[in-house]
Amino acid sequence: MVLTAHERTSLEGRHFQVVVIGGGINGVAVARQCARAGKHTLLVERNDFASGVTSRSTRIIHGGLRYLEHGELGLVRESLRERKKLLRERSHLVHPMHFLLLLNESSQRSAMKVRAGLWLYQRMAGKPPGADASEMELKRLERALDAGHRWSFFNYEDAQCEFPERLVAEWLMEAVDASAIVRNHMEALAVDVAHGRVRGVLLRDQITGLDQRVGAGWVINCSGPWADRVCQRSSIHMAKPMLGGVRGSHIVLPRFPGSPSAAIYTEAADGRPIFVLPWNDQILVGTTEVADNGDPEKTVPATDEISYLVRSVAQLFPQAKISAQSVKHAFAGIRPLPYSPDSRPSAIARRHILHDHADDGAVRMLSVIGGKLTTAASLARDCARKIGLSATEPHAMAVGPGPALDPLLDDAVLEIARIGAVSEDSARGMLEWHGKRAAGIARMACVSAELRAPICPHTSHVIAEVVEACRRECAVTLGDVLLRRVPVALGACWSESCSREAALRIGAVLGWDEHTMGANLEAFEMERTAFLRPVGRAAAAMEAAAD
Ligand SMILES: Cc1cc2nc3c(=O)[nH]c(=O)nc-3n(C[C@H](O)[C@H](O)[C@H](O)COP(=O)(O)OP(=O)(O)OC[C@H]3O[C@@H](n4cnc5c(N)ncnc54)[C@H](O)[C@@H]3O)c2cc1C
Repeated sequence: MVLTAHERTSLEGRHFQVVVIGGGINGVAVARQCARAGKHTLLVERNDFASGVTSRSTRIIHGGLRYLEHGELGLVRESLRERKKLLRERSHLVHPMHFLLLLNESSQRSAMKVRAGLWLYQRMAGKPPGADASEMELKRLERALDAGHRWSFFNYEDAQCEFPERLVAEWLMEAVDASAIVRNHMEALAVDVAHGRVRGVLLRDQITGLDQRVGAGWVINCSGPWADRVCQRSSIHMAKPMLGGVRGSHIVLPRFPGSPSAAIYTEAADGRPIFVLPWNDQILVGTTEVADNGDPEKTVPATDEISYLVRSVAQLFPQAKISAQSVKHAFAGIRPLPYSPDSRPSAIARRHILHDHADDGAVRMLSVIGGKLTTAASLARDCARKIGLSATEPHAMAVGPGPALDPLLDDAVLEIARIGAVSEDSARGMLEWHGKRAAGIARMACVSAELRAPICPHTSHVIAEVVEACRRECAVTLGDVLLRRVPVALGACWSESCSREAALRIGAVLGWDEHTMGANLEAFEMERTAFLRPVGRAAAAMEAAAD
């Protein structure tokens, strides 16, 4: 299943000042922070970077309007600050998003309370409210909504990162640029603790099958919902678990007649908050909150969660006649929330916790509990401080495309199209996903027609981006490429035939033989369907069987 004959030199016997376990957004942020502080840092990830909860989130970069209800003012302030930074520094990946909060006469929240909350939220954000949705958009939405209710609309601004996988890839490269060693498909089997102190980590390379032992000055356990498991395997005993997993599921629908162009935040029939978001030319609906302490690797959305989400969106937009058959796929992830057996999931604090294992007999080991996409960089700074490093904010580097290469600017698109001899759509796609590195990828594309070819007939993203993913962004498998570095397989029309076509085109450039091609394709399809659970076809088959 390996794409290229990567040099995976053994790490056996090497010593690192910091070993970070888990390459989700938090682990990558922590590794980058420690490497930038001059520490010899190793980051290991058992599967692929960003393949855990990070890719199963709602993908909103938000201040946490909902946290205001629970009085978490500090978290809201921190989240708003981080949102602002991401919007400024990663403008190609994080976009402002207009939200409409909808209430009707049976809503549990009063209009007055919501108005006050939004006023406070906007004040804390320190920026004037954005423009309200246009009359036309409101009228269009009103026509699509359930006419049996009296709807009130409230406007506010937040942001969306459509592809946190890409954000993680960029931070990963910055960690590598700061001399971190990073390995995906490398599992931490156990943390080695002797005489009450962390000594190292036992690793298993999932590609070569080789076990290796590295020395560690500090171990930071950033394995998200797997955090307790890492400790159990390392015989680090605690009086109670650190985590209480809460599963959140989403469904993905094709755009439907009347589907909103703004993000909708409203209450489902049971009063729980629900989002209906334009995402990647589709509609993302979520989420549920179900206690789940099972193996996070095997998390899938339950049938009743899918029905609940379908029912909620169908009730909201009755004319669209949405049913389970409309659903393209569903996916689930476990929120790694702090263990709070007596609290309702929605009431559990969302602020991250850094658990110091000194009292558990493992001095110099921390576990990261909780967090959000939005606050991963500030979590990393907290973590660095906790282990005695300076936690200066990474200086505002020009990582976004910069004003001259803004994907929204025609001139920038034309310039990339000229450099790469690619279509304007391909150039725009490169700018949106690779920021200022688009120019380098375009130069590579210019070299041959094969490198300029689209990955599959339905996308404008090109093979040169795949080559970049393998060379620079540590992609190892076809899934690493198509689901996370160049995530075209999350697109609206991706199907098995796209997978086959993509494998053929990528294989031609990477020189695969037939066997390698078959193995890559099979592993990719298995990963894709384990993540994005097909619903529509299964629902149709069930209905047909019941007839
Ligand atoms: C349903 C849902 C919706 C969400 N929506 C949002 C949102 O809209 N906005 C927002 O800001 N946040 C959101 N979040 C929260 C956010 O997604 C998570 O807090 C964040 O992604 C957690 O990142 P992480 O790095 O801690 O965990 P993960 O992304 O899960 O990373 C942990 C990694 O550790 C690896 N690992 C595990 N064990 C080992 C081992 N033994 N050795 C090596 N590696 C190992 C795993 O493979 C995994 O990749 C949402 C979460 C959920 C569940």
